Amino acid sequence: RFEYAPAPESRAIVDIKSSYGLFINGAFTEATDGKPFKTVSPASEEVLAEVSEAGPADVDKAVRAARKAYDKVWGPMPGRDRAKYLYRIARLIQERSRELAVLESLDNGKPIRESRDVDLPLVAAHFFYYAGWADKLEYAGAGENPRPLGVAAQVIPWNFPLMMLAWKIAPALAAGNTVVLKPAETTPLTALAFAEICQQADLPPGVVNIITGAGRTGQALVEHEGVDKVAFTGSTAVGRAIAKAVAGTDKKVTLELGGKAANIVFEDAPIDQTVEGIVNGIFFNQGHVCCAGSRLLVQESVYDEVLARLKRRMGTLRVGDPLDKNTDIGAINSAEQLARIRELSQVGEDEGSERWSPECELPTQGFWFPPTVFTGVSQAHRIAREEIFGPVLSVLTFRTPQEAVEKANNTPFGLSAGVWTDKGSRILWMANQLRAGVVWANTFNRFDPTSPFGGYKESGYGREGGRHGLEAYLAH
Ligand code: NAD
Repeated sequence: RFEYAPAPESRAIVDIKSSYGLFINGAFTEATDGKPFKTVSPASEEVLAEVSEAGPADVDKAVRAARKAYDKVWGPMPGRDRAKYLYRIARLIQERSRELAVLESLDNGKPIRESRDVDLPLVAAHFFYYAGWADKLEYAGAGENPRPLGVAAQVIPWNFPLMMLAWKIAPALAAGNTVVLKPAETTPLTALAFAEICQQADLPPGVVNIITGAGRTGQALVEHEGVDKVAFTGSTAVGRAIAKAVAGTDKKVTLELGGKAANIVFEDAPIDQTVEGIVNGIFFNQGHVCCAGSRLLVQESVYDEVLARLKRRMGTLRVGDPLDKNTDIGAINSAEQLARIRELSQVGEDEGSERWSPECELPTQGFWFPPTVFTGVSQAHRIAREEIFGPVLSVLTFRTPQEAVEKANNTPFGLSAGVWTDKGSRILWMANQLRAGVVWANTFNRFDPTSPFGGYKESGYGREGGRHGLEAYLAH
């Protein structure tokens, strides 16, 4: 196991204020018509801060600020100057990355090892990557140059708060749009820290506006008539509601929704690597991952061996304090999410699947769920069809590659899939057969800013990341 040296990632390096206003037009302001709400640490249930809820008047103010900044400053600004701001933001994120990682782990519950080594590096990488695009969109030669869309309304979930913010804000700004972003109500703190970074970077007022609040704030934002583009990541149910709400307007929409990814293990797969990949696929970020490998499909001939090794490995996972560098599985983000995981796990048992978790002591305060595997799952079971969004794996088996494809595609979702095999030709064949936006081969949950990410079917439409991610913020 990787050993980490003692590092200063502790509560002491973050400076959390007792209350936060909304970040509108470059300044933190009091909400005019909303009520404050509390954000808690899911590991201890300690109240971290009081945050303002933006009401309709605040949403209106934020959209107007974004419009003015778009018309007067950001829209007309040469791409090379926009790039300078984005590079500055990227560097500030790197400089403050330890503090931001601690803040993310406190507010979200994820292990510091992940926020520090995965989330934060990717957040900075996104800003660097899109900064590089900003000056390459103009004077592209013959034909019409692409133009920004205007004001983007961006609504994000709680599972990767800062990373989702980066996926949304970096391409939007690079392409010349201004934004109003609403973080999830349980994880607003790193978005508010990002607002401070915008101030530190001297970003012109109104280019980025961060408004906090629950679903109704998000709804008021996406429905505001001053918005040109809506980018949403979250549940399929809310994605549908948003698609309906903007139907008949000329707003452009991208939706990144849920998933139920198949992680497919063939008998010739490299076994040690595969077991690590299964563990990473479902237990990374407590399984709060839209592309989590939550349906394990194992070829029958290696089923016993894979299961035995997987269980042994699960027995070594440490569940506990997100700020402890040896923690593998942190806290479940909220009481509501914990209730949903418990409920669906109970459904799994009631439907006749066999439930197993290693012995593990869970802290008494906070929201926790042990790593769990269900065997004897059939395709009709709810735990094989519905997103659990927790550290719960459903295992199914197959005999032939054709059967693996049929089972993998037998889902309303289509965000990602994993294939574990020694055969290159099989990887290519599977990649063509699988109805999933991302197919990983002999790896899982790998992200890169240059690579597009997005779904088929009920997993949404549009792509984020790479050049495709920019297109979502450009008109031609
Ligand atoms: P959610 O849909 O409940 O909330 C997401 C965001 O939408 C939050 O900020 C919330 O306040 C806001 N919201 C709620 N109702 C709204 C409405 N009517 N109008 C506008 N905004 C509204 O989802 P969640 O529980 O926060 O996140 C978990 C879900 O997100 C999972 O289903 C997961 O698969 C999905 N997800 C998808 C991706 C992806 O890239 N495809 C990434 C992360 C999470």
